Amino acid sequence: MKILVAVKRVVDHNIQVRIRPDGSDVDIAGVKMSINPFDENAVEEALRLKERGLAKEIVAVSFGTAANQDVLRHALAMGADRALLVETEAQLQPLGVAKLLKAVVEREQPDIVLLGKQAIDDDAGQAGQMLAALLGAGQGTFISSLNIEGDEAIVTREIDGGTEQIAVKLPAVLTADLRLNDPRFVKLPNLMMAKKKPIETLNAAELSTDTAPRLKQVKVSEPPARKPGVKVGSIEELIEKLHEEGMLS
Ligand code: AMP
Repeated sequence: MKILVAVKRVVDHNIQVRIRPDGSDVDIAGVKMSINPFDENAVEEALRLKERGLAKEIVAVSFGTAANQDVLRHALAMGADRALLVETEAQLQPLGVAKLLKAVVEREQPDIVLLGKQAIDDDAGQAGQMLAALLGAGQGTFISSLNIEGDEAIVTREIDGGTEQIAVKLPAVLTADLRLNDPRFVKLPNLMMAKKKPIETLNAAELSTDTAPRLKQVKVSEPPARKPGVKVGSIEELIEKLHEEGMLS
């Protein structure tokens, strides 16, 4: 079985993002970038399937500029077998990513495409679902466990009020939730070794896909500042305060 894992380069989740003064976007100049956390779960799960003898090859793919090599190297250092960089200067939106992924799927013919459930920069949570639709394949989204039985993926999904288990016919598209696993720590020697591994590079134009944006970002703004908390001395005082704030009638 072959698994294709999509890894996005995003602002590191420990960084407090700043917004450009003109409100046009988040300012990423000089900011630490990392692999999208959910994509790290996706790589980890693919590796576990390989370690259990259920997968033979894991291919990591990223769409963006040459800078994306770092997240591909991270996937290689974790244990992915190959890395593919599809270069584009275009501002990709989830539909563009899904179309590029479809073209890569047609070349690579994986049995499973694993993505993160969402990218923490756009928080869209759309690329996996769009890819499954474009491929006409089954999908298991927000998965917190994965097993393979015959030609089906048995997945647990997080839903309102609990979990559900579904069987999805392979080939399928699966999107990883954080609960799926704890990604392994990448050791420095593995990272050094990954630096020597080749990264296959394609130009997005070679995949003849229309990645033109369909959405326009109108404005980005800070969330409203939180009011500082107050300590109350008793339940009676708390109830009085809640009445005052209009939170209790
Ligand atoms: P989104 O729909 O933007 O929230 O992204 C969902 C998932 O799609 C991410 O967790 C990644 O697995 C994948 N993805 C999105 N953008 C890219 C990209 N530029 N390169 C590789 N994978 C991506």
